[in-house]
Amino acid sequence: MKKTSQELFDAAVKVLPGGVNSPVRAFRAVNLAPRFIQRADGAHIYDVEGNEYLDYVCSWGPMILGHNHPVIREAVERAVVDGLSFGAPTAREVEIAQRMVELVPNIEMVRMVNSGTEAVMSAIRLARGATGRDKIIKFEGCYHGHSDCLLVGAGSSALAGGHPTSAGVPQDVVRHTLTAQFNDLASVETLLQANENQVACVIVEPVAANMGVVGPKPGFLAGLRTLCDQYGALLIFDEVITGFRLGLGGAQAYFGVKADIVTFGKIIGGGMPVGAYCASRALMEEVAPCGPVYQAGTLSGNPVAMAAGLAQLRYLKEHPEVYTHIDALATRLAEGMRKAAAETGAPVTVNQIGSLLAPFFTPDAVSTFVDAKGSDVGKYARYFANMLEQGIYLAPAQFEAMFLSNAHTKEDVDRTIEAVRASLAAL
Ligand SMILES: *Cc1c(COP(=O)(O)O)cnc(C)c1O
Repeated sequence: MKKTSQELFDAAVKVLPGGVNSPVRAFRAVNLAPRFIQRADGAHIYDVEGNEYLDYVCSWGPMILGHNHPVIREAVERAVVDGLSFGAPTAREVEIAQRMVELVPNIEMVRMVNSGTEAVMSAIRLARGATGRDKIIKFEGCYHGHSDCLLVGAGSSALAGGHPTSAGVPQDVVRHTLTAQFNDLASVETLLQANENQVACVIVEPVAANMGVVGPKPGFLAGLRTLCDQYGALLIFDEVITGFRLGLGGAQAYFGVKADIVTFGKIIGGGMPVGAYCASRALMEEVAPCGPVYQAGTLSGNPVAMAAGLAQLRYLKEHPEVYTHIDALATRLAEGMRKAAAETGAPVTVNQIGSLLAPFFTPDAVSTFVDAKGSDVGKYARYFANMLEQGIYLAPAQFEAMFLSNAHTKEDVDRTIEAVRASLAAL
């Protein structure tokens, strides 16, 4: 007999903390037991019981073409035949870097790593190494992976789990991490002024997508650029979510603002564990073996991962209409959700930028972290359960984004809006 999700979870909690390998998957923020997934195809995922769900998690962003896309699957199958890892350079690493340099503004060189966490951690090291400064400025509610110095006022499941600042991180390490408020330039300027000639970089999610979805106010990102130039700090765009999602040029192209270092993950791996940090040649040649900033990886540039990422980036470049499709679907969904909220009298605010969106259970506009935290997470949990019941798989926590993929259809979106209406009415 095949095991049920509940049986698997009961076994899992005995050998994995919380039964999972990444906290949000445990469904704790929605007070349920997680579904164990058997397989996924297109816009749908299937649990071990065979239940089908319309998926708005999309593996937290990477599956922009939908699950099990034949182009990516076949690229991986071809790569596997040649061997899983060599610990030596391969042609695909060159090609993916060339492609990224060609598509992403203001970058001349790329270093591939194995996760978004690693990409951002290394980008911070590069910024510190290149400037000779120790302090960094991040924004409360922005998530940049789980390296020590960035687990301060973090978003995503660090926030949902009640530990935005992690235990196990020495005070000595985080005293170099300064925290500003997203969409509040004055809070950044105050820190830069008070720490003159000490701040290596300002790191930001250009669209904050780990506190729900909160877009930058007009002028916010450009203002960061100006402040960084004024104070000699580097500007890091953490595009682990926005990279190749807001378009081929990412947030830099979308908002017309130049970053000094850009980090990627998620989409560039096509579902495999990949990250990358990128910058000008001058900055990247600070990295080993060219320069004194050390960074390495046994499996970095892994041939199978590169094959998946390369196939996805190639497909996106050849089919820019993917972006028109997913952006239009997200707009349709956001508008439908707002209408459903108005008709059911539910106090819900929906934020949407490109193919990213999130509902907040508050009647007020959400443009800051404080606004986002104003959402009624108990209501989100009940809404999540209602949606799951209707076969719609959402992020099992308020402070996450909904992701559209090219496999989603108008019909999927319209069905989702009806489910939202029923869920909100049931609240
Ligand atoms: C997911 C994410 C990360 C961390 O990436 P991992 O691959 O989970 O380590 C970093 N920054 C942002 C903006 C993310 O969304």
